[in-house]
Amino acid sequence: MQRRPLHPHKGDQNREQNTEDEKEYYQYGGAMGALFTSVCFIGLTYIVVEKIQSGKWEMLRVPEFPSHVGGWLDFRAAAMFLGWLGAQCILYLLPIGGPIELGSPTKDNGRRLSYRLNGFFVFMVNTICLLAATYAGVPVTMLTSKALQLLTAGLVTFFLLSIVLYAKGMTLRPRDRSPCGQTKSAYYNWFIGVELHPRFGFLDLKLVLFRSVVIGWMIFNWVNVMDAYETGHLTPSLILVSSLQLVYVLDTFWFETGMLVSREIIHEALGFNHLSLCLMIPFTFCVQTRYLVTTGFTLPWYCLVPILVLNLTGYWILRGSNSEKNNFRRNPKDPAFAKYETLPTRVKGKNLLVSGWWGMSRHPNYFGDILINFTFALPTGFGHFLPYLNPVLLVLLLIDRERMDGEDCRQRYGDVWDKYCEKVKYRIIPYVY
Ligand code: NDP
Repeated sequence: MQRRPLHPHKGDQNREQNTEDEKEYYQYGGAMGALFTSVCFIGLTYIVVEKIQSGKWEMLRVPEFPSHVGGWLDFRAAAMFLGWLGAQCILYLLPIGGPIELGSPTKDNGRRLSYRLNGFFVFMVNTICLLAATYAGVPVTMLTSKALQLLTAGLVTFFLLSIVLYAKGMTLRPRDRSPCGQTKSAYYNWFIGVELHPRFGFLDLKLVLFRSVVIGWMIFNWVNVMDAYETGHLTPSLILVSSLQLVYVLDTFWFETGMLVSREIIHEALGFNHLSLCLMIPFTFCVQTRYLVTTGFTLPWYCLVPILVLNLTGYWILRGSNSEKNNFRRNPKDPAFAKYETLPTRVKGKNLLVSGWWGMSRHPNYFGDILINFTFALPTGFGHFLPYLNPVLLVLLLIDRERMDGEDCRQRYGDVWDKYCEKVKYRIIPYVY
């Protein structure tokens, strides 16, 4: 899906010269591929939203979209979307709810940016507001009927934001821009993003957007649970899926510090591509809970228990491997790692773990994540493919991401990385892949 040359930077001393050489970094097969991909993803999101709203899941049915402009976008939905997104930005900026932490040195000029890690607090504030609104009798379930207009409001907002970000990025010196956003195609640069860490003052757009869309997903899940409560469809499958997804999100926010070392924060610029993928999350990740509400489908407990066990296994792998790596990166001299086999690299403080989770595969955390995401879909049975769309897309994304991360690590660690790959043969799933 995404391809990049193996050695984009020959070294920091050559960075200026590389930029002048007009490097071409094309993902998605270039500008046309990028256009095709974004049209497909946006189209798919609209189709999913139409199914969510109509509750009609027949596979061959032609989606019924509104024939008037107001059905696609109205003032109320736009105000709701912008008001809510603005509130997330303000909550990030408030000096409460979490510590300020330094991120990794940036790829563009090696600065260490500071971030307020109050995601858990912000999530709780959103939850309390939602519960209070529900208790006060606000018809929160009307959010589903507004989903199409909210999606369009988000799309227009993110489209305009991507233009602002492009213009902002173009004011930077070439060496301070993302290498991927410096091709000859202006369209492609706008799509993939020019600036690696777009900020307005202290407001870090990537972190705020990521946490906001995840919270948006939870809001739609809550709406679905309320809908099920009102219609008598609060089934064991729905309770399990919404609880598992809630725990997954709580875990993400509780360990938000892990976001600072993620590829999104360190390596990926913010362009229309990333913005539109973010926009998909609240509308498509709630498809499993919506499917269960509208169909009333449920599995018996003896099927749900093994799914729960699979989910816990996924957590054990995901959390175990992420914590192991993050702790090792934070304090490689921790006595807990005394018995671990490691490979020394030329980068200070960055040896590679060869035993423990990271000795079983090169991305054990992706394996855990994949298992967890399939347990979100399994309680919906096998009556429809849409609940499986996200886990399948995640598998494709993580396969591609593993290859890109491998390329980056090879550039950073040279032949030590090759040695690591010789010792740890499997990419994601031990003995399988
Ligand atoms: P990872 O957490 O997988 O980190 C990869 C980095 O770890 C490498 O670049 C390298 O960085 C370091 N590393 C690799 N091998 C070793 C080793 N043997 N020993 C020590 N360090 C090593 O990065 P991601 O950002 O891709 O993933 C973060 C989390 O986000 C994962 O749990 C993933 O599952 C999840 N995720 C979830 C998605 C979703 O939609 N649900 C989408 C994408 C990710 P360095 O050496 O520079 O420290």
